[in-house]
Amino acid sequence: MPKISKHFTRAEVACKCGCGFDSMDIETLKIADEARDFANESITPSSACRCRKHNTRVTKKPRSISQHLKARAMDLPVSNPKALFDYLRNKYPNQYGFGLYKTFVHVDTRTNGPARWKLIWHSVRK
Ligand SMILES: [Zn+2]
Ligand SMILES: [Zn+2]
Repeated sequence: MPKISKHFTRAEVACKCGCGFDSMDIETLKIADEARDFANESITPSSACRCRKHNTRVTKKPRSISQHLKARAMDLPVSNPKALFDYLRNKYPNQYGFGLYKTFVHVDTRTNGPARWKLIWHSVRK
């Protein structure tokens, strides 16, 4: 499977519903590659591109304005989410969106950032 960034393949960022939405934003891929290099372990995104239908299924919010809908967000499961979250927010203190969850870090390249949140009681979203 050919890579579309240093570490990730198109199949890994495609919407999980099978609709074919996989046009992941290049800036978001760059941050995900940096996250992968920092974590120094293989990362399979648990969620990346999401079409409206799939996003509603995942979030239960039909009016959600998730960056996943814009192909500008990736959820990255890692063994130490807190360390990755701290690395990213220290590296980019004034921009982007980073969310800390129990088993993964949400990364997005929203243009109206910075946004930070911790929802460590949530499990992995597919
Ligand atoms: Zn879809
Ligand atoms: Zn996310």
